[in-house]
Amino acid sequence: MRTMKGLSEAHALRLLHASYDINEAGCWNWRWLDSWGYGKVAWQLADSRRWWMAHRASYELLVGPIPTGLSLDHLCRNRSCINPQHLEPVTIAENNRRAMKARVAA
Ligand SMILES: [Zn+2]
Repeated sequence: MRTMKGLSEAHALRLLHASYDINEAGCWNWRWLDSWGYGKVAWQLADSRRWWMAHRASYELLVGPIPTGLSLDHLCRNRSCINPQHLEPVTIAENNRRAMKARVAA
């Protein structure tokens, strides 16, 4: 069986699907956010507690591995969203370029 950060995939999926609310835009809003507004997930393991970015966990569980060196861009510009259909793996440079454009447009 595949494991994710030490959890079985089935257990990780159960945790994931119990932790967000869907809004009218189709965003899956994660309930626990860090001070930057990003969703954070804590896998409580027997020996330790590990933090993981919720949108990266969601993408890896529901779509597949994120290519090395790429970050996930929120196409909906909603940092707390973990809907894999709203996420696209891009280079950090591309992600920054898009964020800049969004700021100018706002
Ligand atoms: Zn979204």
